Amino acid sequence: MRVLKFGGTSLANAQRFNQVADIVINNQQQSQIALVLSAPAGVTNNLVAVVEKTSNGLSADSHLFDIQRIFSELIKGLKSTYSELADDLLKTFFERELAHLTDLLEGVRLLSQCPPSIEAQILSKGELLSIACMKQLLIAKGHNVEVIKPQQKLMSKKGGYLEAHIDIEASRALFAKEGLIKNVIYLMPGFTAGNAKGETLVLGRNGSDYSAAVLAACLNAKCCEIWTDVDGVYSCDPRLVKDAKLLDSLSYAEAMELSYFGAKVLHPKTIAPIAQYHIPCLIKNTHNPQAPGTLIGAQQSNEELQVKGISDLKNLTMISISGAGMKGIVGMAGRIFSTVSRAGVSIILITQSSSEYSLSFCISSPDCDKTVDALQEEFSLEFENNLLEPIELVKERAIISLVGDGMEKAKGIAARFLTALTGASINITAIAQGSSERSISVVVSEKKAQEAVIACHQKFFASVQYIDMFLIGCGGVGGALVDQVHRQQARLAERNIQIRVCGVANSRVMLMDAKGIELDNWRDLLKDATHPLSLSKMQALVNDSHIINPVIVDCTSNDAIAARYVDFLGAGFHVVTANKKANTSSMDYYRQLRLTALMKRRKFLYDTNVGAGLPVIENMQNLFNAGDQLLKFNGILSGSLSFIFGKLDEGKSFSEVTTEARNMGFTEPDPRDDLSGTDVARKLLILAREAGMDISLEDVEIEQALPPGFDDTGTPDEFMARLPEADAYFKALQEKANEKNQVLRYIGSIVDGKCKCSIQAVDADDPMNKVKDGENALAFYSQYYQPIPLVLRGYGAGTEVTAAGIFADVLRTLNWKQEF
Ligand code: ADP
Ligand code: ASP
Ligand code: MG
Repeated sequence: MRVLKFGGTSLANAQRFNQVADIVINNQQQSQIALVLSAPAGVTNNLVAVVEKTSNGLSADSHLFDIQRIFSELIKGLKSTYSELADDLLKTFFERELAHLTDLLEGVRLLSQCPPSIEAQILSKGELLSIACMKQLLIAKGHNVEVIKPQQKLMSKKGGYLEAHIDIEASRALFAKEGLIKNVIYLMPGFTAGNAKGETLVLGRNGSDYSAAVLAACLNAKCCEIWTDVDGVYSCDPRLVKDAKLLDSLSYAEAMELSYFGAKVLHPKTIAPIAQYHIPCLIKNTHNPQAPGTLIGAQQSNEELQVKGISDLKNLTMISISGAGMKGIVGMAGRIFSTVSRAGVSIILITQSSSEYSLSFCISSPDCDKTVDALQEEFSLEFENNLLEPIELVKERAIISLVGDGMEKAKGIAARFLTALTGASINITAIAQGSSERSISVVVSEKKAQEAVIACHQKFFASVQYIDMFLIGCGGVGGALVDQVHRQQARLAERNIQIRVCGVANSRVMLMDAKGIELDNWRDLLKDATHPLSLSKMQALVNDSHIINPVIVDCTSNDAIAARYVDFLGAGFHVVTANKKANTSSMDYYRQLRLTALMKRRKFLYDTNVGAGLPVIENMQNLFNAGDQLLKFNGILSGSLSFIFGKLDEGKSFSEVTTEARNMGFTEPDPRDDLSGTDVARKLLILAREAGMDISLEDVEIEQALPPGFDDTGTPDEFMARLPEADAYFKALQEKANEKNQVLRYIGSIVDGKCKCSIQAVDADDPMNKVKDGENALAFYSQYYQPIPLVLRGYGAGTEVTAAGIFADVLRTLNWKQEF
């Protein structure tokens, strides 16, 4: 004998009923089958709504109509496949049940409430009708069937009418009284049980799994098969994590913990009966019957996994009781728990502070009022005498649990668990570990439950790590970045990394897509976008889509955007920027940025601020973290000035090379932006601040790359026309330098705590001497690097190298620790 149970998702319509019937018939050839069915998908939800609405004096017609529609379409569909189907019998049965339902509801309407005994009768109707349909279908297919009435066989002694708990021994005795008839398929409505008075009870939502387990125990079945809409039990809810891992097997204890802590695939009460009678349980997919499924049994799993699954249980409230009256008083915990138990409320998780000063526990939120009332009454004297503080409620909580038999022997699991949550910026309200060490649970905000599962799954199952990028500024560098991401996606996928570009904004509009913008034609898509850039829209998208690693990338040079980084970090985004404005604004803002990043556990990365793609900032941070100190710095920090001054070596005139640089696009459209030295000053300031100096842009001494007092007014073209007037000045400087075998370079320097940008004549052996043609060079003279400095040299500008530098920063967001 085997028990097969099919859930509502497997019974959604006539086609599915047929599929189920065929699976049963195929299986029947191997051994006799007892079939347990749920109500078709949606029916029980409608019945729950019918009770609620009618109790509140509201019309439940739309829900009744839905139920009617589901069954009449079902009967019609079955009849069209099997003309032999006794649809008249079914229709009459259905009408009779509907009339009974209407009578019960009339009573509910008059009373303005629904007694639990009546509610149980109403809720169980879906299963009853499922069985009636399946019975006629199997008969039409030429099989003998027998219906088991759970009201008469599955005996309950506790749990009331709505959460009945079955007395297995009593039920087994009832089954044992009557032998089994050979060659029939047994059918039993799930979710339903009875009591000594013969009344109808239900087993709690999702309870048909439990019905099947109990029936398997009563019939000494060889196996209990739970057929659903997924291939088996996964490492976490497959709706949440696309690459959730399908588990071959689970121990009874693991399955029990996972379902207790919220894995919907199994009702938590399912495991106890089958574990007690050592019945293996197989989870199978109705839509994919060939798949082997997940085996739950006494066996030790052959999977190497220490953590088997991650589950989330929502809609909880955490209640905390604290006060002087808690400390050292024997029996306080006992009184609290028996009070809650007397109120008929189940406690899901308990934590106590080691000082014994407070005790917290989680309950299902709908039970909150009656729990608080019961506690107020029990401890009224203690509250009156201030021995206990007012009861503290933290609402909208969820429990996230890691489950696995292998956790018992493993070290460091809790640390990785908490690191994963911290990395996703999730605050932990409480932690609890079962004494079996088979599960560890944390309480978090319900809003963050899905992010928590995703983050933990990434940590424990090496599943794909997502980076969700929102790009602001998609001109040269930003555009190149998107194209690089597009080209690199296959390579990153091999390393289990996926970058989704969820937002691209230019100065006018923003294009957004939580699933990632189609990168083949993002430029065209952006042309059609109409919404302006909005942080609140980006944030809403991140929240709604449960994104755990959102990154804002700023490829503008805009002050207003830089001024919003603190908001971005505060809203949970990492910030990667090529824009120098934030790091060169006030020292207060500079500090606030780092503090916010640290508090929010988000990264603020800006390696391209200096030297474009050269790894400048990261190297400096590593050096200083290791205790080094900057003594002196010299650098060529501008690609255009590197080009211009390098060309002077070849004897060309200043105006000639500046024009050449401008024509080749090496300078800004207005070359004064480069020649003014401000851009170099900003970079120098960023380096100085990185080295720990508390200075501002005004403190940087800037000499323009122009003769002193040179008239730099007018339009760019007027200025360029005037530039030959500067040639004589540079020629003279050049000749003087040549006499000493020196060359002219535009240098940013930090000496004796002073920052200066100026034209300098540098010796032949100076690290800056050979730096030209747009190259950058940075010479750090430090305690560790002297007298020979640490020199970083290479192209310090250009769209591709800058984009690649930003790309590297974007990838660094996957490691959450801030490196400063
Ligand atoms: P049925 O109608 O067959 O009883 P349920 O909806 O009650 O189906 O349970 C199956 C669903 O449970 C799956 O569709 C899946 O979304 C969800 N689920 C949650 N956690 C898990 C998990 N760890 N493994 C498999 N399914 C899970
Ligand atoms: N039909 C019931 C419910 O929806 C029982 C079940 O499907 O397991 O809760
Ligand atoms: Mg179910």
